[in-house]
Amino acid sequence: MFKIGCHLSAAEGFIPMAKQAIEIGANTFQFFTRNPRGFKAKKIDENDVKEFLKIVKENNFYKILAHAPYTLNPCSADKQVRQTAKALFVDDLKRMEYIPENMYNFHPGSHVGQGMETGIKIIAETLNEVLKKEQTTTVLLETMSGKGSEVGGKFEELKKIIDLVELKDKIGVCLDTCHIYDGGYDIVNDLDGVIKLFDGIVGLDKLKAVHLNDTKNPFSSHKDRHEKIGEGFLGLEAVCRIINHPKLKDLPFFLETPNEIDGYAQEIKILKKLYK
Ligand code: FE
Ligand code: FE
Ligand code: ZN
Repeated sequence: MFKIGCHLSAAEGFIPMAKQAIEIGANTFQFFTRNPRGFKAKKIDENDVKEFLKIVKENNFYKILAHAPYTLNPCSADKQVRQTAKALFVDDLKRMEYIPENMYNFHPGSHVGQGMETGIKIIAETLNEVLKKEQTTTVLLETMSGKGSEVGGKFEELKKIIDLVELKDKIGVCLDTCHIYDGGYDIVNDLDGVIKLFDGIVGLDKLKAVHLNDTKNPFSSHKDRHEKIGEGFLGLEAVCRIINHPKLKDLPFFLETPNEIDGYAQEIKILKKLYK
């Protein structure tokens, strides 16, 4: 089964997202747990959640993916910022248990001059404080483009974080196709090689989701600007190879392309035709 979805607005709650996903031919989706800038979270409405769980079950949805605010920096040099990040993680993971067995993705952060090794250590420490044995959510580190002092632009950095995390079964990786191409992994000309490299460093068993985006910038530009499917430097042929690669094809793919809902519907239609 092709597991495909896109980023949806959580403003109206869970039921509208599920309905919207069904309308556009998706069987999963991604959403922000809270306002990605202001950090404000909507109160969980238990009726909304209950009905939502029914809809996803009836419609055979795959695990959905929550995305932490991208302005959150768990490895900031500023203690206040780090504490905010930790508090938000705790709250988000508590909220995720209303919709058990799903996934929660976050950007590892930027070490802002403290050095990569320190950044990695702080992120792992934070994870060790917030991950709980009894949680059902898998937390995913997103592969980044390596802009500025971003942690997670190299597979080795993600591996080092995972190595330091105690509850390893609670942690995985979300691979963003725009980010890794920007980050210097050539998934256009050597997809096989990149997948082998990932497997050798992190391990494919840790790969739980793919952010499927084209990129506005050429190879290894460390920019992180998403483009519509087939309209960027990856191109439709490379995207087709990605969704059909034997090591990737069973993973869920989430579009984060610059689109309104109609554009997402269109891309999902195209991708379904390309999926073998
Ligand atoms: Fe992201
Ligand atoms: Fe992403
Ligand atoms: Zn991005």
